[in-house]
Amino acid sequence: MKKYLILGILSLFILSFLFIYQSSRFQDGRLHMVACNVGQGDAIFIRTEGGLDVLIDGGPDDKVLNCLANHMPFWDKTLEVVILTHPDADHLRGLVSVVERYKINYFVTVDIPKTTAVYKLFQSKLKEKNISAKYLFAGDKINFGKSSMTLFWPQKQFFLENSKYAGKGSLGSNDFAIVGKLNYGKFSALLTADAGANILDKFAWNIGKTGALKVPHHGSKTGMSDLFLTSIKPEIAIISVGERNNYGHPAALSLELLKKYNINILRTDLNGEVEVVSDGVKFWLH
Ligand SMILES: [Zn+2]
Repeated sequence: MKKYLILGILSLFILSFLFIYQSSRFQDGRLHMVACNVGQGDAIFIRTEGGLDVLIDGGPDDKVLNCLANHMPFWDKTLEVVILTHPDADHLRGLVSVVERYKINYFVTVDIPKTTAVYKLFQSKLKEKNISAKYLFAGDKINFGKSSMTLFWPQKQFFLENSKYAGKGSLGSNDFAIVGKLNYGKFSALLTADAGANILDKFAWNIGKTGALKVPHHGSKTGMSDLFLTSIKPEIAIISVGERNNYGHPAALSLELLKKYNINILRTDLNGEVEVVSDGVKFWLH
């Protein structure tokens, strides 16, 4: 009897220690933005200063689940906001498992249907979990406590006029992908999905100075222009890219362009996961 009492007290002690440790680790009053190490794809996780969890894309497989487990307390299984920037497999596939395991309060995406098996599977999972998609456009803003995300793309008129041609002519789903700027006090990060310079240059002048840039389209050679970089003037550039990928990402041209403007480059294939932390005044790498 006494043995069970000691065991009980001991487990209670360990549990409270874990709870206090995880609470202080994940509720530090700072914003954390993590480019998860998911290989060739994108999954960006944000834990806000107030402890809200936001996921932008899910990467090409289940690796995103490790990223969530490492950056959220073990008892927290709710993502306040999930954004699927566009339904290509390297951004979508991991979200299938995320929808199965996490409660999603608010799901934002772009309405570009695909015929792929993973797209159909994802749609059926959304239906099963009663999650309805919200379609937002340039100018819309999503608030997460003291931080927020302002959308710059897709522009509604462009979408209405052109989305029916996605995948049929020169336009693909990348051209309609959600581009947004995360803001927390003086810190900001531009999340560009797989947009190309053909799209980003349309509104680069309007974005304003940006602390961190998630480099468009895994560093593809068509992603950035001088106009884009001189408009947003990022201090750091994060490239989410797989080791020895088949696309030759990141392109030498993109790396040279970033170096030309003295932008500090971080790559998930070389650096692993990249975590940026901000107190709303400064930001630094974890
Ligand atoms: Zn991609």
